Amino acid sequence: MDCGTVMPKGIRKGQKKLSEEERIARRKASWKKFREKNIDRLLAKARERYAANSEKEKDRHKEWATKNVKHLREYLNRRYAENPETKKKQTRNWRKKNPEYSPMACKRWVKNNPRKARESQRLSNQMRRNASGSFSTNDMHDIRRMQKSCCAYCKKHLKFHQECIDHIIALANGGTHNRCNLQILCRSCNSRKWARDPIEFVRSEYGFLV
Ligand SMILES: [Zn+2]
Repeated sequence: MDCGTVMPKGIRKGQKKLSEEERIARRKASWKKFREKNIDRLLAKARERYAANSEKEKDRHKEWATKNVKHLREYLNRRYAENPETKKKQTRNWRKKNPEYSPMACKRWVKNNPRKARESQRLSNQMRRNASGSFSTNDMHDIRRMQKSCCAYCKKHLKFHQECIDHIIALANGGTHNRCNLQILCRSCNSRKWARDPIEFVRSEYGFLV
């Protein structure tokens, strides 16, 4: 046995020392493997953690969602494309349980409460003016191209006049007019989402677990 060479911990003799990127890639690969093997256990744990600290977890998700808008959008679109029927069923159930969010109920409320509706519109306009950030026509072209002119949630193909510009984190919750906080939605999804948290919205409307 050659005791002359002292190898760093975790590296066997003859083994090439890995660069930082290689080590990160390895760690990621082994985590992925572990995750695939133990997905049920990990999901159960995550649900448990969420139930115990729902407020804290909501904040954590909100923060994560603002930083990973593109990733989140891709993931949700993929999940919806894989199983649209289940998601539609969950959506129908949720709407039955929460009739106050239906577009018809909103219209009825506006008709019965004209003063409150005007005041709410005024506050909303004020918020729009006061929010920071800006976007250009080119930004909207890019967003349209990235979404292939489809609604970010239900995937419906949209003509130009059918598009609604949505603030992913609503202005009422401190969102900005910046491009990374914008997406295009169909009228139906936009009116149902309103100022709701994007994560809470997709969970309740589309049954996602993120
Ligand atoms: Zn939609």
